[in-house]
Amino acid sequence: MKLQEYQSKRIFAQYGVPVPEGGIATTPQQAREIAERLGKSVVVKAQVLVGGRGKAGGIKLAETPEEAETVAAQILAMNLKGLPVRSVLVEGAADIASEIYLGIVIDRAAKRPVMMASSEGGIEIEEVARRAPEKIIKVTVDPFLGLQGYQVREVAYGIGLDGDLIRGFLKVAKELYIAFTKSDASLAEINPLVVTGGRTLLAVDAKMLLDDNALFRHPELAEMRDLEEETPAEREARGYGISYVQLDGTIGCMVNGAGLAMATMDLTKLYGGAPANFLDIGGGAKADKVAAALRLILSDENVRAVLFNIFGGITRCDEVARGILAALEEIPTDIPMVARLVGTNEEEGRAILAEAKMITAATLEEAAQKAVAAASAYGART
Ligand code: GDP
Ligand code: MN
Repeated sequence: MKLQEYQSKRIFAQYGVPVPEGGIATTPQQAREIAERLGKSVVVKAQVLVGGRGKAGGIKLAETPEEAETVAAQILAMNLKGLPVRSVLVEGAADIASEIYLGIVIDRAAKRPVMMASSEGGIEIEEVARRAPEKIIKVTVDPFLGLQGYQVREVAYGIGLDGDLIRGFLKVAKELYIAFTKSDASLAEINPLVVTGGRTLLAVDAKMLLDDNALFRHPELAEMRDLEEETPAEREARGYGISYVQLDGTIGCMVNGAGLAMATMDLTKLYGGAPANFLDIGGGAKADKVAAALRLILSDENVRAVLFNIFGGITRCDEVARGILAALEEIPTDIPMVARLVGTNEEEGRAILAEAKMITAATLEEAAQKAVAAASAYGART
């Protein structure tokens, strides 16, 4: 789950990371009031879940409350990379001497958190990694020992900090690490971490990703989910308890089990196709859930074929087949459907689908190849 900048900053602040003073506004008038309260020049920042807001015009400085109101009105009317801006963060403008990057992510290969920093702050870390990878300093953290002082010093020296800034950096890095672990985050990033004219550190931007599988431990964080940032299809899926992620390919995939879904997508790619989605209908899916999943898949206009890959253990193949038929009755379509059903009650399931003139396959390889061929034969939807 992605958090907005202002939400990430609230969490960072709870753990002591210095963030600018400010408030959130959904109207220009509110932005003006926050600027009045702050009593100094402010920065008005679009709250949308995309990076590079600055370059896209979603971040503007304002000297006076009147100006804050004007620029807030402009930003609130924007679409940034397709997302409408519904709120702005109004903060005291920072006095920026230089910009640092500081982030913590889970390194899946090392199975540990890794802290990364760079003197090249304010630009996306991926870009630094491409252009000047030697400018990124990394340390891998032992989760049982936690982030050690010597590791942070190594990072601080590595990015060229000196004198009193090292002590300040030690403090911020440790606070960020605690915010990261306590929130079960998979990413906590400050970009830029600003060195001010007075040689203090300030988190001018903040980004956090939380591990969805740990949200049950953090009801207060789970509440931060912004329903309007999800696509309508993703929201509907969550309501049915279906894991669904929309992608940009043409082959809709309906699978039971996340691992099997990944394997199905891989094979689709291997045979020259592209999956339109990740979809796990979960174990024991009944007809109504299958119908809901099919409706979701078909609501994506890029879909030119649907691939069902069901391994019937708890989920019974005949139930799934009946679900598919029920869904097709509801939403008649000529989009080709390929099904591979194996496991409990597979014969019954296949017989039901054969009657509905669906393409069936005995193996996943065969099913993926048939789906790729069917999608290209079908062509674009009109
Ligand atoms: P992003 O573009 O979405 O990453 O948004 P950021 O919050 O990182 O802002 C982008 C850039 O705008 C920063 O790197 C700064 O250079 C600049 N910026 C942001 N806040 C302030 C501020 O308070 N004062 C000044 N002078 N510049 C700022
Ligand atoms: Mn940034």
